[in-house]
Amino acid sequence: MKLHELHPLFYLKDMSKEQIKLSIAQKIKQHIVTVLHSGGGLNERPYLKKHNESNISGFFIIGDLAGAPVIKYAMAQGHDVIEHIASLPGAIGGPDSGLYDVVIIGAGAAGLNAALQAKERGLRYILLEKEQVANTIENFPEGKYVYAEPDSQPPKGKLWLDGATKEDLTKRWHQIIQDNNLDVRTMEGVQRCEKKDGIFHVATAKGTYRSKRIVLATGQRGNPRKLKVKGEEREHVYHRLYSPRKYKNENIIVVGGGNSAIEAAITLGEQNSVYLSYRGSEFSRIFKDNKRKLNEAIASKRIEPLLNSTITEFGEHDATLKTNTGSEDETRTIPYHHAFVLIGADVPREFLRSLGLRMENEWEGSILRTLSLTLLGFLGVWVFGAHHGGSASIGSVDLSVIPMWAAAMVWAVGLVGLIRFGIKGDRFAWLGLSFFVWYTVYGAKLGKGDEFWPYKDWGYKFLSFFDRPWSFWYTVLYTALMTVFGLQALKRWGLDRKDRFQIWRYVSLLSFQWVFFFLIPEFLFQSAVKYQWVGEKLATDPAFADQAWRSYGIVYAWPLFFYTFFYSPHQVWVVWGILLTFVVIPIFVLFNGKRYCSWICGCGGLAETFGDRWRHLAPKGKTSIRWEWMNYAVLGLAAVVTLFVLLKDIYGALAGPADIGVRVYRLFADVWLVGILPVTLYPFLGGKVWCRYWCPLAKLMHMQSSFFAKMKWSRFRIEANDKCISCNECSRNCQVGIDVMSYALKQETLDNKTSSCIGCGICVSVCPMDTLSFGDHNGKMYAMPARTMGAKGKAMV
Ligand SMILES: Cc1cc2nc3c(=O)[nH]c(=O)nc-3n(C[C@H](O)[C@H](O)[C@H](O)COP(=O)(O)OP(=O)(O)OC[C@H]3O[C@@H](n4cnc5c(N)ncnc54)[C@H](O)[C@@H]3O)c2cc1C
Ligand code: SF4
Ligand code: SF4
Repeated sequence: MKLHELHPLFYLKDMSKEQIKLSIAQKIKQHIVTVLHSGGGLNERPYLKKHNESNISGFFIIGDLAGAPVIKYAMAQGHDVIEHIASLPGAIGGPDSGLYDVVIIGAGAAGLNAALQAKERGLRYILLEKEQVANTIENFPEGKYVYAEPDSQPPKGKLWLDGATKEDLTKRWHQIIQDNNLDVRTMEGVQRCEKKDGIFHVATAKGTYRSKRIVLATGQRGNPRKLKVKGEEREHVYHRLYSPRKYKNENIIVVGGGNSAIEAAITLGEQNSVYLSYRGSEFSRIFKDNKRKLNEAIASKRIEPLLNSTITEFGEHDATLKTNTGSEDETRTIPYHHAFVLIGADVPREFLRSLGLRMENEWEGSILRTLSLTLLGFLGVWVFGAHHGGSASIGSVDLSVIPMWAAAMVWAVGLVGLIRFGIKGDRFAWLGLSFFVWYTVYGAKLGKGDEFWPYKDWGYKFLSFFDRPWSFWYTVLYTALMTVFGLQALKRWGLDRKDRFQIWRYVSLLSFQWVFFFLIPEFLFQSAVKYQWVGEKLATDPAFADQAWRSYGIVYAWPLFFYTFFYSPHQVWVVWGILLTFVVIPIFVLFNGKRYCSWICGCGGLAETFGDRWRHLAPKGKTSIRWEWMNYAVLGLAAVVTLFVLLKDIYGALAGPADIGVRVYRLFADVWLVGILPVTLYPFLGGKVWCRYWCPLAKLMHMQSSFFAKMKWSRFRIEANDKCISCNECSRNCQVGIDVMSYALKQETLDNKTSSCIGCGICVSVCPMDTLSFGDHNGKMYAMPARTMGAKGKAMV
């Protein structure tokens, strides 16, 4: 099997290794990487820190390459990065006259605006351009109208931008370059860049420039994606279309299923016979208007669509296609004069790597080394535990004979090793460290004597301070994490964007956590009993008064709060539990879909706060959606075990299975699935692993919401207008991995009949075009508060 057949990640990694026979260990590693990388495939970007700085200090990346989806944002990044550089100590000038303050690479919207700003701020700069000024825009089809969206934001910096044809726009830009006497070196592409002794050496075919800092603005359009089939290099096979009207009465093959391919096919189809080959089974990511025009062209036989087809070879006069008709592959030969392969552009990974830049979510490193170092960490803890009441022995050797300092050394070697390799770029090492931390937190939390190895018999006690058990400190830690990261997320999505919807959402999440999942169960319930706020009868009834933990059930509904009906609950809890799960939640779902997950729940709350910075890594694509079946399994298990527990007093034979069921559910669902695994995976698969794949309440609400949507009763939905520019920001930032963009392009309703949306509204907030909004089934739009405030999208994520 070829590496690139396993995962697109391997495409560019090392094609020369195609023939490598994979060992079992490698295959296992690839499967793990495939899962872990499932959120990073689409819209992959270089790894960036604050102010768009890459992994190399002083090397900044802006524009298209850094995720700016439109010209206005690319310009803003160009302006802002120079403002940041200019504010750094020693940024401007110095005794070495041959040393530039900044070399800007790429004269597109981002690079040009950066150069103009550098000139304005008095920086010594040059702007190096591989081809011509604004090469990407120059390569748009003749007469293309360039939009200046989003309207709500004025353009930043000195470059001009307004809606105009590409010819008018570039003419203006040339005038600005001339007026400002900008130092642009065209036809001078950068080939290499190295950092030596803190100075960058930038090499082109014409010379080498020394600079304190680099701003890379090379975009990604110069790297059109290839089919990688025989004959693709032929003269009449193109990867761009400049002048569609020059082709007449010819046989033309267009390959692709996105808007560029469809628009090309439609225009070419006016004067030619066009075959439109696409590997998918439908054109699902195209504008509504394009779909209509395409259907007309197909109906009038100007375009022949070839769905589920892949080109296998471009011959001199014929192209060979493989078409999958369901049961078997068919081969077909099509005569052609020209072929246009318009399947998008790839991030120029090889170029970026050659500069020493790292991509986000890159899975490099050694699993075996990570396992060994993590194990060393646990071994150190095991011996440490032997000195603190834990039973640690190998055979007849009691490990407490090993001194504490040796245990500390082993522990440190493990953890410091993980950190060291992590810093060097081994992502598995970070995964190991994350596992170590969260396994410790949950492994010790099970209760005295129930702890996991190596914490057994000592961990819980050791982590209990000031007369408070570890479970209390765990709640403190949880609430503290949510508060610190919640305030950051509140700033990022709410305050910075003046987005009232997001401000209220984060206020709601933090309030529920503090009141219902911390203060009430840990303090207020006890006060309510002590001072008899709940009435004398309840306060003096031990079945109520001695079970403060049940107060989590005020907001947590069965089956998420699995124990609502277990262990002799007071009737108050039984009645409330039934009402909450079967009346209150369905009514809430009717009006709000699954917003419980993004506005109320503490599990979802940690994901939306602590997990927020990794939201773009949520698994994407059809396979990741198929994984959602696991929710059904957990819900089914919860329902069966609950039934057994409730019936065991009537049918004695159920007592054994009920007992085993509770223990299994507690271990797997309550510890591994809700605790250890999801939080361990936050930095790698985003925050919603538990909510999306395992939470039984989320599935129950999903079933209700889907039913309400089918019946057209639901008040919850997301609508799109016709302004989508396919920037992918909405899909990238969806924590539950929904391809929001495909709904937006088709202007299709997104609800719980068609997706597992939890109504967080981030897609609505992040859209630079104000395309998305919440609506109801009467077609009336609920304007989002963010929209009514008209302020959003300071900088793209
Ligand atoms: C078909 C299409 C239609 C679009 N329509 C719109 C629209 O209507 N409105 C809108 O706002 N946005 C639109 N966009 C998006 C817009 O084009 C980009 O957001 C914008 O061009 C990004 O600017 P940039 O400076 O980051 O990159 P680019 O404009 O791509 O500029 C990168 C520059 O770097 C140069 N370069 C590359 N490699 C090197 C190297 N090694 N050394 C030196 N130079 C190098 C390139 O030649 C190029 O000139 C559209 C995009 C496409 C593909
Ligand atoms: S589709 Fe939008 S609102 Fe729904 S979960 Fe994804 S980002 Fe949130
Ligand atoms: S709907 Fe999504 S893809 Fe379309 S413009 Fe908005 S954020 Fe971009």
